[in-house]
Amino acid sequence: MKTIIKCPNCTKVQAVKPGMVNCSTCNFRFNTESRQPLRALSIQQPWAWAILNGLKDIENRKWTTTFTGQILIHAGQKFDNEGLKFIKDMNPDIEIPTEKEFKKMMGGIVGKAVITGCVEESDSPWFFGPFGFTLANAKAIDLIPCKGQLKFFTPKID
Ligand SMILES: [Zn+2]
Repeated sequence: MKTIIKCPNCTKVQAVKPGMVNCSTCNFRFNTESRQPLRALSIQQPWAWAILNGLKDIENRKWTTTFTGQILIHAGQKFDNEGLKFIKDMNPDIEIPTEKEFKKMMGGIVGKAVITGCVEESDSPWFFGPFGFTLANAKAIDLIPCKGQLKFFTPKID
């Protein structure tokens, strides 16, 4: 069983088995027990894409959190067509991925971001509430296939 951690040397996010591992990018050798497995939040496409491309700066939830810090962004297999319309209306000039490209960004971990807080009001056009998790430093990563769960979860990979 693998979990997802960030290399302490180059910060590459990767799925690893517990124990001594070599980073897949910089080859730095480290013990996974010295690193906390990263937690993830599942966000439907194309919303996850909008976050990872620096458009959407807040994630709406019905529940609140006191958690701040690094998270992984998971995208499930369901696609929100209404959401795509909203994103296109907000950003008429932006290049939207094709359906085939979106398929490569679904069914697993697709990126990372930092949760900086949880608000009940915001001027962000992406805020609908009732709660908004404010996000920073969002960045796409290559798909790491895994199942999603409700709320925050620690991805486990066979
Ligand atoms: Zn590394």
